[in-house]
Amino acid sequence: MSQIDGLPPLRDVIARHGIAAKKSLGQNFLLDLNLTAKIARLAGDLTCADVLEIGPGPGGLTRGLLAEGARRVVAIEKDSRCIAALEDIAAIYPGQLQIVNGDALEVDTTDLLTPPIKIAANLPYNVGTELLVRWLTPPAWPPFWESLTLMFQREVAQRIVAAPGSKTYGRLAILSQWRTDPAIVLDLPPEAFTPAPKVSSAVVHLRALPAPRYPADPDVLNRVVATAFNQRRKMLRSALKPLGPDAEDRLNHAGIKPTARAEEIDLEGFCALARAYTA
Ligand code: SAM
Repeated sequence: MSQIDGLPPLRDVIARHGIAAKKSLGQNFLLDLNLTAKIARLAGDLTCADVLEIGPGPGGLTRGLLAEGARRVVAIEKDSRCIAALEDIAAIYPGQLQIVNGDALEVDTTDLLTPPIKIAANLPYNVGTELLVRWLTPPAWPPFWESLTLMFQREVAQRIVAAPGSKTYGRLAILSQWRTDPAIVLDLPPEAFTPAPKVSSAVVHLRALPAPRYPADPDVLNRVVATAFNQRRKMLRSALKPLGPDAEDRLNHAGIKPTARAEEIDLEGFCALARAYTA
């Protein structure tokens, strides 16, 4: 029995329900319930919030979220082998855990949760990045969520918090920092997971700002940034050519040197450039 909820340890749950980790689903499980409770605490006060959890697996983080007092948890899991294990958790938290067996990239969550909503997940890398971009771009603005507490490969976490001039600075940094104040709040070595992945991981906390930091049309900003970093070593006057022949004029209009490279331009500069492309 575990101390946090009286349910069996996760190793027993996995054995009982035959949830051998599948690489194809990016399954690297967290089995230490003290650690999952700690991650749940990083999401802030959950007692007045609905939590959307993506990829609960055998339920380690789910149990952490509920033990930390989440008002409700809606958990979307693609692997049907995990559903019975999650139902055992739902049974001891009546009315508080809703399980959805589906692909998080396809499930419409609009009517499943009541604000305020927090999102928490330990997800496979590719799905996590794709969902993060969706949560940061239209139509998800203003956001339906208050904060995101997400596990990433450490390298991806660094891309989210990167500053201009660094190798990891790019589209993820700009989209994240425009609308939120992202911070790496926990580093985890590979051995924290079962099976252990090849790389280290980190939890990133992103709190939605009341408004984006600088004015810009989200679609235009997204397009300008993607184009600029698509050829990050080129000068911007060349890199931005796919957007039209007048790149140099638009850069001058935004007060950016046409010979500068994408990684030198800060968030404010990219927003000015997006406005120059909107005019
Ligand atoms: N949250 C659990 C934990 O911390 O131990 C499991 C984490 S494991 C890294 C990722 C989980 O996401 C797996 O349970 C996997 O089946 C699930 N998953 C993978 N792709 C998914 C998708 N597209 N939609 C929903 N769940 C997905």
